[in-house]
Amino acid sequence: MNTLLPQAFIDKMAALLPSRQELDAFVSICHQGLRKSIRVNQLKISVSEFKQRMQVQGWQLTPIPWCEAGFWLTRPEEQESTPLGNTAEHLAGLFYIQEASSMLPPVALFAKLNTPERVLDIAAAPGSKTTQISALMNNQGLLVANELSSSRLKVLSATIQRLGAANVAMSHFDGEVFGQWLPETFDAILLDAPCGGEGTVRKDPQAMQNWSEQALQDISAVQKRLIDSAFLALKPGGTLVYSTCTLSPEENQQVVQWLLEQYDEAVSVESLADLFAGAEQVVTPEGYLHVWPQRFDSEGFFVARLTKHHSVGAPKSNKKAGNFPYQPASRKEQATLGDYLAKQFALPFPAGFSLYVRDKDYWLFPDAFVELIGRFRFDRIGLKLATAHKQGFRLTHEAALALTPSANSPIVNLSLSQLAEFYQGKDLFCDTLPQGELLVCLDGHPVGLGKGIGQKLKNSLPRELVRDGLSL
Ligand code: SAM
Repeated sequence: MNTLLPQAFIDKMAALLPSRQELDAFVSICHQGLRKSIRVNQLKISVSEFKQRMQVQGWQLTPIPWCEAGFWLTRPEEQESTPLGNTAEHLAGLFYIQEASSMLPPVALFAKLNTPERVLDIAAAPGSKTTQISALMNNQGLLVANELSSSRLKVLSATIQRLGAANVAMSHFDGEVFGQWLPETFDAILLDAPCGGEGTVRKDPQAMQNWSEQALQDISAVQKRLIDSAFLALKPGGTLVYSTCTLSPEENQQVVQWLLEQYDEAVSVESLADLFAGAEQVVTPEGYLHVWPQRFDSEGFFVARLTKHHSVGAPKSNKKAGNFPYQPASRKEQATLGDYLAKQFALPFPAGFSLYVRDKDYWLFPDAFVELIGRFRFDRIGLKLATAHKQGFRLTHEAALALTPSANSPIVNLSLSQLAEFYQGKDLFCDTLPQGELLVCLDGHPVGLGKGIGQKLKNSLPRELVRDGLSL
């Protein structure tokens, strides 16, 4: 691989590494491609079921020591030409393609937490850690996933829906606003900061094109503003994880050190030395993880975990949240929708959520969200459950993907070739088919909705998700 590594960067890393051999190992691995890794989406499937399923297909899954749902993956040669993203299991949201070291920050955040009620992910797109956190929360409580970039926000939204994360409220702000607008609101916060990306050259050989000492200073100033905002938005007693996929101290140790100096005894570092067997190989004297790519044959990463001990106040803000265009659903609406879910799909009304309505759409908002109404503007909250029409309700595609079918739910399991046709937007013919609305599944895992009319399965896949020419 022809990776661009500026000499000034190599010299800088040489000063941080203990020996010439280590530097050689570092430079050498930067020129090698990354091994593939995935995270099983525990929102939809257990690790053991996934392993069983994929081992039958010849997948070799090597556990990643710090993440119970993470695996390095080797596929049989004949499968290598199919992009992982085009496999049936990926389309069904059963796994997420995620670099191994990028699984560390959520694991560090949750290692000592007891079911947090509200969590904030300040820089969330494309959503690898958001969905990992949602799974660690068992899809309960509230996870606010914020992203500054509009185009990346769309990707975040698609990830959240494909993986079936229902406890997420998305927002679209500069992360610097949280300290002022939502002070002392969250039990746990992840700041996976925008960074120089020095640890990502194995995936993107041109990642260091714009590298310079000045760029380091500039991004470090942004990171300090973001970590300050995160700290103010944290409840006393809460946990903050700061992470980057870069290696220079200016963006890592020095950012955390700056926060420690600002807030003195109100904040302390919690060592990550015991996070997993082997962590001692990458822990710094301060208790941070500084993952050199040659250590675990991964990307480079930095992770720090902090505790807030007491309130430090927060600047007052008069920011108005704007109109909130949703109304709580009436008892009657709730009862009729509950009836529809039970009768048509044999699904219970999901616990931990409240029903809201806007126009004809019915939404499930996490209960932990309701207190934030009027305090902040969100982009998309919870799960769109159903739409009202003349004769009643219609379940949404995203709800079909997020709710777990019961033993009595009407489902049809498709073969791979049928599934490909389903994704192509085609209607199908099946020997036996429950009649009326049903869940279209890959071995019991919903991939969408359809309607059984005699032997015809009418395809209800949303048009924007149709994949012409897909083969499986
Ligand atoms: N946490 C993500 C994941 O695991 O999928 C990766 C996040 S990436 C390292 C940093 C993200 O921060 C980018 O999506 C970038 O658009 C966003 N970003 C940049 N500046 C920001 C800011 N001031 N506030 C919030 N997000 C920002």
